[in-house]
Amino acid sequence: MKKIIIANWKMNPSTAEEAKKLFGSIKRTIKKAKKIDVLISAPFVWWSFLKKVKLCAQNCFWEERGPYTGEISPKMIKDAGAEYVIIGHSERRNVFNETDEMINKKLKAALSAGLTPILCVGEKKGEDAEEVIGRQLKEDLNGIELPAQDWSASGGKIIVAYEPVWAISTSGGEICSADYAKQKLDFIKQRFNGKIIYGGSVDSKIVNNYLSVGYEGALVGGASLKAEEFVKTIEIIK
Ligand code: PEP
Repeated sequence: MKKIIIANWKMNPSTAEEAKKLFGSIKRTIKKAKKIDVLISAPFVWWSFLKKVKLCAQNCFWEERGPYTGEISPKMIKDAGAEYVIIGHSERRNVFNETDEMINKKLKAALSAGLTPILCVGEKKGEDAEEVIGRQLKEDLNGIELPAQDWSASGGKIIVAYEPVWAISTSGGEICSADYAKQKLDFIKQRFNGKIIYGGSVDSKIVNNYLSVGYEGALVGGASLKAEEFVKTIEIIK
């Protein structure tokens, strides 16, 4: 099965010129990476020049259209050429107060639009990881049927990203050990039958630590903004 690497640019860089430069320095490597699906999760305003790569939205709303100033629907995302959307990122949960109920509605809307959601789960520093992940999975996936995940068909499936918040580079940046990540992978597998990826300060030095214990890919934030480092991260994957 193909590994998946998601470059989460978040709200970066700050101008189209910088974004074009970053994209220009990584696109060849992305196109060459036949054994890996590399997704670019960039701000919507730059999608028009991110040609011939797989696009991933960073968020969506749950309604299809209407009076929701500032929001973007899964149908619009699909129509703009993306197949993926990140839902429930810790920054959405913690900075924008998204609840599990909201995340559940977003997941259902994204699936109905034929998108593949990347559901992020993970504990903050000092929290009981299994209690948090268990609750997030239960509430976020409530009422969502997860039949055999057929990866040959497009749409209608979910990817779970385990991201311990304390390991994200902008909110602690501690390096999560491979053993700890593996324990959590096993815990998630008991509750979710599908692709599971890892996120938290991943770069070329540690990406294989997580892939070698069974994660099927990685969500890469900070390192995806440094062209050379991102290229190295893709090229070093075994
Ligand atoms: C993230 O925020 O999803 C993330 C993985 O960021 P970083 O790689 O910078 O820790």
